[in-house]
Amino acid sequence: MNALASDVLDADSPAPFCKQHPRAPAGWRCQSCAAALCPDCAVGRRAQTVELVGCGLCGSGASPILAHRRRTPLATRLKDAWRYVFTPSGLQVLVAVGLTLAFLAFLLEMVVIFLKPLPLALYGSMFWATFFTLVRDTSRGEMELDTPEFIEFFRDGIVPGLRGLTASTLVWMPALLYVGFLRPGNTGWSTLGFILTGDAMPPGLMSDPVLWLLLLLGAVWLPLALLVTAAGMPPSAIIHVPRVLRMVKGLGRDYLVIAGVLALLGVVHLATHTVAFGLRALDLFVVSRVLAEAVTLIAPFTAAHVLGLLLYVRGDSLGYGADRDYLEPVLGNTRPRLAAPPMREDAPFPEAPDGATLVEFQDTEQRAASEGLSALASAVESRDIPQAMALYATLRGQPKARVPPEHHLFIGQAAAVEGNFPLAVQALESAADVAPDDPTAPRALVLLARVLGEKMQDTTRAEEVYRYVIHRYPDSGAARFARERVPPSAD
Ligand SMILES: [Zn+2]
Ligand SMILES: [Zn+2]
Repeated sequence: MNALASDVLDADSPAPFCKQHPRAPAGWRCQSCAAALCPDCAVGRRAQTVELVGCGLCGSGASPILAHRRRTPLATRLKDAWRYVFTPSGLQVLVAVGLTLAFLAFLLEMVVIFLKPLPLALYGSMFWATFFTLVRDTSRGEMELDTPEFIEFFRDGIVPGLRGLTASTLVWMPALLYVGFLRPGNTGWSTLGFILTGDAMPPGLMSDPVLWLLLLLGAVWLPLALLVTAAGMPPSAIIHVPRVLRMVKGLGRDYLVIAGVLALLGVVHLATHTVAFGLRALDLFVVSRVLAEAVTLIAPFTAAHVLGLLLYVRGDSLGYGADRDYLEPVLGNTRPRLAAPPMREDAPFPEAPDGATLVEFQDTEQRAASEGLSALASAVESRDIPQAMALYATLRGQPKARVPPEHHLFIGQAAAVEGNFPLAVQALESAADVAPDDPTAPRALVLLARVLGEKMQDTTRAEEVYRYVIHRYPDSGAARFARERVPPSAD
């Protein structure tokens, strides 16, 4: 049985409700009795470093009901976007980047003219590298502004600078070409230069409807140019008109929402430049310069976050990331209200809450258990997977049966291959649980992390397991494998 297909909700289908409480939204589905479960009817169970969920009605494993991120409208997610910069860590990043930019701006003023391109290029790269790092961080689900990876910055410093410059110039090209060359009475590049520096203003330019139309085109085009750049597509994708139209159509109304928010941020950006001008005029040397740079970063950082949110919710329609990355649990971070005692080898199922019926497992005698165990051993030996799984299911109900770790591992692997992920999780956990010092334990845990992360979309818990493996079995091959799969942690 494929546990995934049945647990993914369509974008338009109604939210599921609990089997026992028809008015409570359900967040899990039992893999055995198929009941939809609310946080009162699902049972949380902590085993090792992993939190699992069981069915409170029949005692089997339950898995989260998943839905596309699109189910939560983008507008709802945007409501808190303004907070992004205004957190303690966000303000720290703002000041740190402001400090670097202020230093580069200072260099730009100090160096002789033929050296000026160098600090200018560094300034642009630093800005755009930060910008695209923030877009991508948000698109991966990091909803708080935290110190970006500076190694990444400098490694990819110049390229993001050029890409950012390309993206933000291309969209204004039609307006620039019109004013410089196509509009009656133009005199080419020189006039254009004077207009841009504010030294010249051809009569009637500001009331020219064609210019305004082209500027509007630029404003609507800009978000897509930045998205395409952040998603790592080549600059040619920005001017490929049919492709651009297809992408905008795919994003639908959300694209217009984002274009509107960015236009609003553009106005805020102009206002912050006025504030920055005032700060510089105060001339408290370093403080003025750093604060002025930091203030003008507020709108771009927020814009990066907003674009990242669009990628986070709708990136799949741009071909960004794998489809399954866009699924999330319908109840978000909600956990079952009841927690069962930690799992032991002989009690693989959670306790049922009061009032729920738990299937009673028959307590069999020692002899039956040992017979079952030797049957399982020969089934494993002869690689008879259906037989081994059937025997394993029976043995799980027998408290006296002590299944050896390598048989748990065998069943875990077989269940993972067959797509029975809840069983795989239970068996792999048991493998690590019954003999934590056996070499099977780290192997079982790595496989467990892969099932959780790659098959059950539970990347958070997969990461927890990887970290546990690194911590508990630091010298094993499993830990080396795990290290490649978790971002470096602060500790
Ligand atoms: Zn059930
Ligand atoms: Zn319920």
